[in-house]
Amino acid sequence: MNILIVGGGVAAFEAAVAAAVSAGCKVTVCSKEAVLPYRRPALSRMVAEELSDTAFYFKSSAFYQEKNIEILLEKEAVSIDRTRRSVQFKDGTALPYDRLILATGGDAFIPPVAGAGYAKVLRDYADLQKIRQELAEGTGKAVVIGGGVLGMELADSLLEAKYEVTIVESGPALLARNLDQESAALVMKQLASHPGLTVKTNAKVRKITPESVELEDEILNASMVFFSTGVRSCTTLAADAGLPVNRGIIVNSKMATEDPDIFSCGDAAETPFGTFGLLSAAKTMGHIAGVNASGGNEEFIPEVYPVRMMALGLKLFAAGKINDAVSEVSGTDGNYQRLTRNAQGKLTGVILLGDLKAALQLQKELVC
Ligand SMILES: Cc1cc2nc3c(=O)[nH]c(=O)nc-3n(C[C@H](O)[C@H](O)[C@H](O)COP(=O)(O)OP(=O)(O)OC[C@H]3O[C@@H](n4cnc5c(N)ncnc54)[C@H](O)[C@@H]3O)c2cc1C
Repeated sequence: MNILIVGGGVAAFEAAVAAAVSAGCKVTVCSKEAVLPYRRPALSRMVAEELSDTAFYFKSSAFYQEKNIEILLEKEAVSIDRTRRSVQFKDGTALPYDRLILATGGDAFIPPVAGAGYAKVLRDYADLQKIRQELAEGTGKAVVIGGGVLGMELADSLLEAKYEVTIVESGPALLARNLDQESAALVMKQLASHPGLTVKTNAKVRKITPESVELEDEILNASMVFFSTGVRSCTTLAADAGLPVNRGIIVNSKMATEDPDIFSCGDAAETPFGTFGLLSAAKTMGHIAGVNASGGNEEFIPEVYPVRMMALGLKLFAAGKINDAVSEVSGTDGNYQRLTRNAQGKLTGVILLGDLKAALQLQKELVC
């Protein structure tokens, strides 16, 4: 069986490895990136730091040869012909498939702001290379628009690269998806004294120019501006091929689309449980898509996927429901712990800020 995988992230990698185990499967991975599949979260650190190849890439090319997985780089799929069962590529070539897996991930969301084209995003290795080149050319001021986990990690690396950084957040608090009110206030207090860092909340961006970010009531000088404002699933290939898409490419719990020969997984896919945008979820979905595309029968059952962050002197572990009423709050000296339980007393949500010693144990106790 000829299994074609479009994508070059963790979902494509896991799908390929899972499919390659099945006897008689020829597995081909087509990625539009120029490098082998790698650990995408490492990009944030690599803005300011070198990482070894073994820490960055999932595997070297020898691994793929050994597993009989063909990897085609700089190979961007542009359309799918479902009648002929083939995928067309930007370079004018086409490849046939018996089973197709769409693991096209997500693109950074660019808000509709005047001058948005002057801002950068950090989504892939090519973005990283451009950013590093610019950083090497000087020091100055940077603005990161978006105060979520990725925005804060990026701000941390920019500070390390000797930039003064302002985080601009349109909402009332940073890390809004991961913190409750008390811990958000604690974070703001701790960041107030962080050298080189300014945080602006409730701040709306009006315009970006090559030298500045204009807010409603203030102009921030900046030689580099970044959007860290979320991700949108890459659904175009599937939609153009007539497959149902919504926030992502619609799949069932087996990761199959409406077309039983086409699967999707990772950030690109919308499962019956929603989209996830998290590495561990993409990894599991990729594995299941690979197993099922090669004739297996596994089901995606989502878990509670925790978020961990160590940036700007903060240590955070957050998972599950964070704002339910039934919860125990404790903590001293800048440490904070909130445990949320359901009516049966089972742990459904955790926020740990500062002291993360209990994280592993609490993760084991969490229920969906
Ligand atoms: C900087 C950064 C830090 C992150 N940190 C964390 C973290 O700490 N924890 C966490 O859980 N998650 C984190 N994430 C999110 C996590 O990386 C994603 O959830 C995960 O990578 C999704 O995997 P994926 O394989 O579905 O998609 P992706 O990793 O986005 O991979 C999709 C791949 O498909 C390729 N592609 C797209 N379209 C085509 C096409 N038409 N033809 C060929 N190839 C194509 C893309 O070039 C890309 O290589 C981070 C993401 C970023 C960008």
